[in-house]
Amino acid sequence: MLPADDHTHSEWSWDAAAGSMEGSCRRAVELGLPSIAFTEHVDLVRWVLPPEERAQWIARRPHRAAWFGEDGSLGLPPLDVAGYLNGIERCRQRFPELRILTGVELGEPHWFAEGSRQVLAGGHFQRVLGSLHSLEIDGACWIVDALFRHMPESLTPADIVRLYLGELLRMVQASGAFEVLTHIDYPIRGWPAATTAFEPAAFEGEFRTVLGALARSDRVLEINTRLPLHPTIVRWWHEAGGAAVSFGSDAHLPEAVAGGFVEAAQMAAAAGFRPGRSLHDFWVRTP
Ligand SMILES: [Zn+2]
Ligand SMILES: [Zn+2]
Repeated sequence: MLPADDHTHSEWSWDAAAGSMEGSCRRAVELGLPSIAFTEHVDLVRWVLPPEERAQWIARRPHRAAWFGEDGSLGLPPLDVAGYLNGIERCRQRFPELRILTGVELGEPHWFAEGSRQVLAGGHFQRVLGSLHSLEIDGACWIVDALFRHMPESLTPADIVRLYLGELLRMVQASGAFEVLTHIDYPIRGWPAATTAFEPAAFEGEFRTVLGALARSDRVLEINTRLPLHPTIVRWWHEAGGAAVSFGSDAHLPEAVAGGFVEAAQMAAAAGFRPGRSLHDFWVRTP
């Protein structure tokens, strides 16, 4: 039995226009998943984007032109909580054999404490993920992916990873709004292929510091499979005293639900975690 998929997106997320809550539920049933959580994006940030990136964003999906302000910065549309919860209700009726969980992926909740609180107060969310996609460089807020493509001369890819892990530590320490820390390795998605391969050992101290703070606050580390999480990081999580792991495909399309879960479950077991009391629960430390 595969673990529950506790991190997916549907058409209710601003970046998943081709997603489908119903299609993802159907896929979860086909795979025999115990449960699926729809953790839609809540991004209150405004990003700067170089003009050529802005043009690409709009060329790919013209309706996004309305998301750019007069100063060229990008603000994301809010989550339609009522519409989303209706969708969840419809899917629960349609797929009674599947456990369907509500959720959100809160971007930079430490920067937007009040906004995050308001979103969480607007509905019952069973899975609350905390995520960091942004870095502030010289007063401008960048999405990390774009930063790798437009590197300031003063920075190297390794600097970006260190800055990211430093900001992630602040997020873990300053925000109690989320239960699960998602994609701790997010910047590695943009790691330039032309440089040497990413090695977690080069950032061991920074990773262990974040993992230690997360473990002390008794929260959960997500094994995100979009870019398979390096086994070394899961081992460090166990050594930090981490009590539980969740699994998240970060699927934005039905066919990506639970992608890579067989390997991720084997890896988690090897690192010292096992299924929880019920199949829907997070995996817990092996005694
Ligand atoms: Zn994310
Ligand atoms: Zn996500």
